[in-house]
Amino acid sequence: MHELSIAQNLLTLCEQNAEKNGAKKVNEIIIKIGRLSGVEPHYLQSAFDVCKAGSICDSAKLTINLQNIIIKCKSCNKENELDKNEFLCPNCGSNELDVIDGEDMMLMQLKME
Ligand SMILES: [Zn+2]
Repeated sequence: MHELSIAQNLLTLCEQNAEKNGAKKVNEIIIKIGRLSGVEPHYLQSAFDVCKAGSICDSAKLTINLQNIIIKCKSCNKENELDKNEFLCPNCGSNELDVIDGEDMMLMQLKME
């Protein structure tokens, strides 16, 4: 299961951060998931709940923010947010696009004690 290894990686990242900051407990973990990342937030949430047991994140709440797809058009140089999975520039209709955001998962914030 894809989400399980992601949850484990996330947990390791949180543990490293907590250790670096001398924290005893992690209260909340805020992450960003790009709509193109292929990560299913619901599955990640349950996978995380399984993995976190007994760790420093045992009672931590996982907050997931979905990141929309942001593209930059190579033809007209405009940046736009795509709400559909249709890779066309809303400005000029070109399909020569660079994806700027919405591809990855990223740890945004850790609330620790
Ligand atoms: Zn364009």
